[in-house]
Amino acid sequence: MAGWRSYLTVVRERVRPRQFHSLFLFVTSRCNSVCRTCFYFDKLNRADDLTFAEIERISASAPPFRKLWLSGGEPFLREELAEIVTTFVRNNGVREVNLPTNGLLPEKIFRAVDRMLEQNPDLSIDLNFSLDGLANTHDAIRGVPNNFQRTLATLEEAARRWRGIRRLRKNVVSVITRENYQELVALALHILEQGRADGHYFEVIRGTAPDMTLKQLSRERLAELHRRLMPVHRHYARRLFSGLPAPARFFATMYYLGNVRLHFELHERCFEGPRRWPMACTAGETSLVVDHNGAFRACELRGIVGHLREFDFDVRAALASPALRSEVARIPADNCWCTHSCFIQDSSKFSPRVQLFEIPWAWLRQRLERLPEIPLAELERFRALELA
Ligand code: SF4
Ligand code: SF4
Repeated sequence: MAGWRSYLTVVRERVRPRQFHSLFLFVTSRCNSVCRTCFYFDKLNRADDLTFAEIERISASAPPFRKLWLSGGEPFLREELAEIVTTFVRNNGVREVNLPTNGLLPEKIFRAVDRMLEQNPDLSIDLNFSLDGLANTHDAIRGVPNNFQRTLATLEEAARRWRGIRRLRKNVVSVITRENYQELVALALHILEQGRADGHYFEVIRGTAPDMTLKQLSRERLAELHRRLMPVHRHYARRLFSGLPAPARFFATMYYLGNVRLHFELHERCFEGPRRWPMACTAGETSLVVDHNGAFRACELRGIVGHLREFDFDVRAALASPALRSEVARIPADNCWCTHSCFIQDSSKFSPRVQLFEIPWAWLRQRLERLPEIPLAELERFRALELA
């Protein structure tokens, strides 16, 4: 009985009515990295960031929504970052914030996140540190000498500073490319052995990047890497849900791992060409992307639909505009596809089929599959961490 109650609680939390749920806001175009993977590279370091007053207007006019995805540029270069977050929590009832960072500005990160925590006691924050390989590879991809060591030092200090604060998760996010796919398992093991992160997630390089050769990766290699990474996710799931009572822990773990597996499979399926997702993409309907200067689009990979200035920064008006409605109608007509996890995640929340069938089924598939053949040294490290 307790088991079914836990299941129903998880399902109620996960299946949502199809309404506005997420805002993706590029808080600045300023950046102190020069990543060869960056899909926003041609818009960086401009002098036309939205003012704080314009962002306040965006928040005041937007409907209530749950999740704020911040982006840039390097978000922590935005001076009023904590105040921006607090504005959306107070005006729109935001409960979750996703914050990527290159980890190069520890003082700014600590100051801003401390303020967010203090000003918003019910807010959950995912602070995602970018690490795209071991030292030399990471620094070469991101164009900043000693970047790897500096980001690891920031992560270590973050883990010490915010130990025990469960609503702040310190994660690592890695972008998979031709140059790093062979060492991402080693990176994941290194991060695990250090024990500073609460999760480690993997995205395939997307969009138009400054170095398009980084996209030369085959579906087979991607699939093999994903299978080798599943034990890493099992480890994080065990840690994440260890405090829950048995039935709730089982269902939370099932959804976590099933979700990861489903994302991996969609990345593999959509990497080389258009393939249908098991749910409709709800970009532009349940979510909106606002660039650093107020231009808006349905998602990060499609073109600009309009500019919020034309709507006096009124988000409701932009959402109801004929231009955005017609963009939303074009998404299925264009047979649109991508590997962008944020939108896969967001769209899947509105699909009972995905929540009730696809995710549990993906969980079962990953339970039944065996670890592919891996080098002995790697296997020993897996065993030492009780992963294999
Ligand atoms: S990927 Fe992020 S950190 Fe790297 S250049 Fe682009 S905005 Fe800056
Ligand atoms: S499938 Fe991907 S690229 Fe297409 S609209 Fe949805 S999020 Fe954007």
